[in-house]
Amino acid sequence: MTPVAAFERAMHYLDRAHASGFKVKAFAQAIETVRATPLDELERRNAAGTLKELPGIGDASARLIREALSGDEHPAYLAKLDAETALEVPDAARPYLEALRGDCHMHSRWSDGGATIEAMARTAMSLGHEYIVLTDHSPRLTIAHGLNRDRLVSQLDDVAVLNIDLAPFRILTGMEVDILEDGLLDLDDDLLERLDVVVASVHSKLKMDAPEMTARMMRAVASPHVDILGHCTGRMIDKRPPSKFDPDYVFAACAAYGTAVEINSRVERMDPPPELLDIAVQHGCMFTIDTDAHATGQLEWLVHGCTIAADGELPIDRILNTRSADDLLAWTQAA
Ligand SMILES: [Zn+2]
Ligand SMILES: [Zn+2]
Repeated sequence: MTPVAAFERAMHYLDRAHASGFKVKAFAQAIETVRATPLDELERRNAAGTLKELPGIGDASARLIREALSGDEHPAYLAKLDAETALEVPDAARPYLEALRGDCHMHSRWSDGGATIEAMARTAMSLGHEYIVLTDHSPRLTIAHGLNRDRLVSQLDDVAVLNIDLAPFRILTGMEVDILEDGLLDLDDDLLERLDVVVASVHSKLKMDAPEMTARMMRAVASPHVDILGHCTGRMIDKRPPSKFDPDYVFAACAAYGTAVEINSRVERMDPPPELLDIAVQHGCMFTIDTDAHATGQLEWLVHGCTIAADGELPIDRILNTRSADDLLAWTQAA
C-alpha cells in the first residue's frame, strides 16, 4: 500500500465517523505532506528515522507511513481506525441498505467536495453500489465553486472517459441545481436536458415566508427537468431551523409531477424530519435515499438515511435507488 493510499483510507474512516477536531486536522495536514513528498524521500527518511522532521508528521502519521512502506496491505493502524469508526447498522435499517443499488447525490472536488470523481466512484464500487449520480453544485452557489456552463460540459467529458474505465459500474451525470428565489432553476434548459438526473435544492433565502417558499418549491418540482427534491427543509440540526412551507402542497406537487423526495442522510441534516416524511408518504411520493457525500467516507452514510426510512416505515418499492440504473433512468426520463 502506498503511503498516500494509506492516508486516504485513514481520512475515509475519520470522515465516515463524522470525526472532527485534532486528529482529523492532523491527518489532513499530514496527507498534504505525504502527497507532496516523493516516495523515495519517504523511504529514505523512514530508514533514517527522520519522518517526523517533515511538516505535519507526528507519531501517528509516522507510524502509518512506516506500516504502509513495509509492504503490509492491511496496516495495523488502519485496522484499528477501521474498528473504531465502523458504522453500526440498526436491524430495521438493514433491509433498506441491502436494497439500495446506488446513491443519487454527491459532490466531487469540482465543486465543494474533497475527493476526485474517480475516488468517489471507486469507493461506491467497494461499497457494492452499481452506480452513482454525480451532482456537483450549480453556478449560483459560488461559495461552493458551483460549475458554470463550460465547467459542467468539461465535467461531462471526464465522466464519459471514466465510465469506459469503470464499466459495468456507471457514473450517471447530474447536478444539484439551486432553486432560485422565484422557483426557477440555476441552469440552462439544454444542459438540464442533457443530464441523467437533476436534484434541485434550496440553498438561499431559506427564511422566506411560508406562502412564498411553497410557491417557489412547487414551481421547481413541477419542472419537467427536476427529478429529485434535495434536503427539502434545509435545516442544519442545532444550527439552522427548517424552512417553512406547506408540505401538503409541495409533496402533492412532487407526487403529481414525478419528482422524488430525497431522504438526505447527512448527520447534520437528516432531512426531511419524521413528521414531514409521513406527509410525503401519504401523498404517494417516490423517494431516494442519498448521502450528499462531500468525501469518500461519507458515502457510507446511507445507513443514516435508511434508519430514517425504517423509522418512517417507508415502503421499499417507493425508493428509486433500489432500482437498476436503467430503471432509474427510465423513471427520470418519463417523469
Ligand atoms: Zn444541497
Ligand atoms: Zn449536495
